[in-house]
Amino acid sequence: MVVTKDIGGQAALSADVENHTGYQYITGLELAKKFEEHMKEFGMEVKEGEEVIEVEKAGDAVKVKTDKGTYESKTLIIASGARPRTLNVPGEGKFKNRGVTYCATCDAPLFADVDVAVIEGGNSALDATLQLMRIANKIYLININRGSAAMR
Ligand SMILES: Cc1cc2nc3c(=O)[nH]c(=O)nc-3n(C[C@H](O)[C@H](O)[C@H](O)COP(=O)(O)OP(=O)(O)OC[C@H]3O[C@@H](n4cnc5c(N)ncnc54)[C@H](O)[C@@H]3O)c2cc1C
Repeated sequence: MVVTKDIGGQAALSADVENHTGYQYITGLELAKKFEEHMKEFGMEVKEGEEVIEVEKAGDAVKVKTDKGTYESKTLIIASGARPRTLNVPGEGKFKNRGVTYCATCDAPLFADVDVAVIEGGNSALDATLQLMRIANKIYLININRGSAAMR
């Protein structure tokens, strides 16, 4: 059984998805519809529009309480997604989705031949930089810990 506030999650918010295996191009809403059809095809019970508010152990089972009911299950898989950690600096909110993005895989093609800055220096930043190297003109990698570097 799947319990979810919405089917598709963040994917449903994407205007276009170009990196989902099997589709050269699909809108986020269409992809969410495909997820729904797939679950129905396999006869999966889906509780849509329900929010999990509490989880507790009940003997050998797990009790999952939502805003609409309570379910017991032997196993519970939590796939509640992730949220980007924002910089919380002036202008970030104003330019979100207007030049400020949190996903190179999703948005790198929007920055073709322009100069971009990647903020932070962990694995994700280097991964984003590698993806952008094929697309952007110049990449500034700005890292709070060790200064900054201009690449290419
Ligand atoms: C605008 C936008 C465009 C994107 N474009 C692309 C793209 O082109 N290519 C790409 O690869 N990625 C893209 N992404 C990223 C991609 O959508 C995410 O990486 C992916 O959706 C993560 O999937 P997930 O299932 O881990 O989490 P999520 O999509 O966040 O799903 C989590 C689900 O859990 C539910 N949930 C959370 N808490 C509860 C609760 N307490 N009770 C019930 N349900 C709960 C949520 O409602 C949601 O349905 C984009 C993201 C955004 C926002």
